[in-house]
Amino acid sequence: MSEQMKALVKEGPRPGLVLVERPIPKIESDEIRIRVEATSVCGTDLHIYNWDTWAQSKVAQPLIVGHEFCGEVIEVGSAVTRFSVGERVAAESHVFCGTCRYCREGQAHICENEKIIGVQRDGCFAEQIVMPERCVWKTPEGLPVEIATLQEPLGNSVHVAMSGSVVGKDVLVMGCGPTGLFSIAIAKKCGARSIIAVDVQSYRLELAKALGADGAWNPVEVDIVSEYMEKTGGMGADVVFGMSGNGKAIEDSLRCLSRGGDYRFFGVPSDRVSVDLARDVIFKGARLQGIIGRKVWDTWKDMSRLLEEGLDLSPIVTHKIDLEDYETAFKLIQEGQCGKVVMFPNGIPASS
Ligand SMILES: [Zn+2]
Ligand SMILES: [Zn+2]
Repeated sequence: MSEQMKALVKEGPRPGLVLVERPIPKIESDEIRIRVEATSVCGTDLHIYNWDTWAQSKVAQPLIVGHEFCGEVIEVGSAVTRFSVGERVAAESHVFCGTCRYCREGQAHICENEKIIGVQRDGCFAEQIVMPERCVWKTPEGLPVEIATLQEPLGNSVHVAMSGSVVGKDVLVMGCGPTGLFSIAIAKKCGARSIIAVDVQSYRLELAKALGADGAWNPVEVDIVSEYMEKTGGMGADVVFGMSGNGKAIEDSLRCLSRGGDYRFFGVPSDRVSVDLARDVIFKGARLQGIIGRKVWDTWKDMSRLLEEGLDLSPIVTHKIDLEDYETAFKLIQEGQCGKVVMFPNGIPASS
């Protein structure tokens, strides 16, 4: 094994990323060394690539970017007990401390000391990554690597879609980026009565239909509020997944929410949002939830079961790219003409 590895790095406070040689990281006794088999690109990585104000305020540098991956265990520290060499694993990207009040209450997804890989500590756009054992998860048997890498973002959608019932419900999904698309597939699998998906990109609306949406509407062409109320006989949506963070989408979909409805916020607005709280929330007796990350390990367990039961995400993986061609990956995401882009730091496997 060489002492160096390929890694995609944010070297300093400026746009872009560079593919460089970095020393192979050492492991501590409670850590696991993983050979990255597949890694997927996220909107967060694009923020870091572009070096926008969010990235400037959050991202350490120099830093290996990337937080979604799966890989093979190639070395375990002396204190590691639950994993062995040769197993395929994924990881909780929010490295939680395990000792703060929230971690001790079983709420590690809101750990007050968390460090996210690819944001505050070295990530997975590299040939290898080292993770603490407490953050590693064994992937379901037989799952292809280009799907196994999606567990981190898919977990966000599992957390959204399973934070309350969707069985027999009319579900409105605002925003069809990857997490919105995943949430459609999950709601369908979990027995939603109807799913209407909303996005401004026709490419994504086609994917939404492929994943089980009964309708895919573009707000540029359709008045979402009047159309949705008409479709539901004036009742509105039992459940809304707020996946986009767009202010107008939030305002419109809160109006579409039924009396006693359940609104789950996931997409992050870039600015303050103005809503009619009295009319659209209080007088409706609505329930609002903020959803962040994945519950450790409840969400991962639910996700493994969904995958074992045949949840089909294959339409979402639209591009497979060698890590060397990372510029192509970022260009695709910048333009929005893709589902999930999967990169391979150790070469594209023959089976993919
Ligand atoms: Zn992500
Ligand atoms: Zn903690």
